[in-house]
Amino acid sequence: QPVHRKKPDWIRVKAPVSKEYHETRKIVRENKLTTVCEEAACPNIGECWAKRHATMMIMGGICTRACSFCNVATGKPGALDPFEPFNVAKAVKELGLRHVVITSVDRDDLDDGGARHFADTILAIREASANTTIEILTPDFLRKDGALEVVVSAKPDVFNHNLETVPRLYGPVRPGARYFHSIRLLDQVKQIDPTIFTKSGLMVGLGETKEEIYQVMDDLRSADVDFLTIGQYLQPTPKHHHVDRFVPPDEFKAFERKAYNKGFLMVSASPLTRSSYHADEDFEKMRRT
Ligand code: SF4
Ligand code: SF4
Repeated sequence: QPVHRKKPDWIRVKAPVSKEYHETRKIVRENKLTTVCEEAACPNIGECWAKRHATMMIMGGICTRACSFCNVATGKPGALDPFEPFNVAKAVKELGLRHVVITSVDRDDLDDGGARHFADTILAIREASANTTIEILTPDFLRKDGALEVVVSAKPDVFNHNLETVPRLYGPVRPGARYFHSIRLLDQVKQIDPTIFTKSGLMVGLGETKEEIYQVMDDLRSADVDFLTIGQYLQPTPKHHHVDRFVPPDEFKAFERKAYNKGFLMVSASPLTRSSYHADEDFEKMRRT
């Protein structure tokens, strides 16, 4: 199987050179925050940080899972930092964010999977910046009874949980996760609190077929999921899952049309779409319509 494919022209990224990029970086460093932008070596960092749009990753930089597409380190994480919710809230205020995305590593080692810490972070942001809308991108809380309820009761504006790929590829791509558990998780959020928007995301180029993507869209709609993101998988290092193919921009457009036809309220599908890419603008646009 191919381990390396040359990136096509449509995957182009700008170098992180702007003054605003450096300001964002300074606030992130001063508050001792981890960002998924850096941990995942995200190609959009120059663009996003220039707009102060950084996605915070809470609960440390070490994950208890080992997804084959992900650049985050796997191992035994350290204890939670009880000050982290306040540091995140302080950074959100300093960055002046209207919309923030908070994500985390997976913490299978904690009794509640880190649910209380997620909730505390949401509450701390609300307290410091009452007008900022909060989007969380959570782990699956597999085998953590009651965890989801704790997170949902903190009332994030958007609850995002990524399916990442089609069910057939869960073994090689997302071992440790269960496709239908993830679908159920999203469904339960809506059942507990229908005022929360739900969102999920997929990567393409891992070996899935178009029909499998359409089936995932249907599964998500049957769980009443509102927003969908689809982006190209990029191999972070040669030891990660190989890129099966680079999906051309017009196929992303076709996915976007299909998803809107299936009833999603907001769809972002393009080669460089990431779960948190343009999340602020998309959320505002959606609220205006
Ligand atoms: Fe960070 Fe998301 Fe932007 Fe990537 S797309 S740089 S992860 S905010
Ligand atoms: Fe990466 Fe999330 Fe998988 Fe952990 S659970 S390895 S952070 S994708």
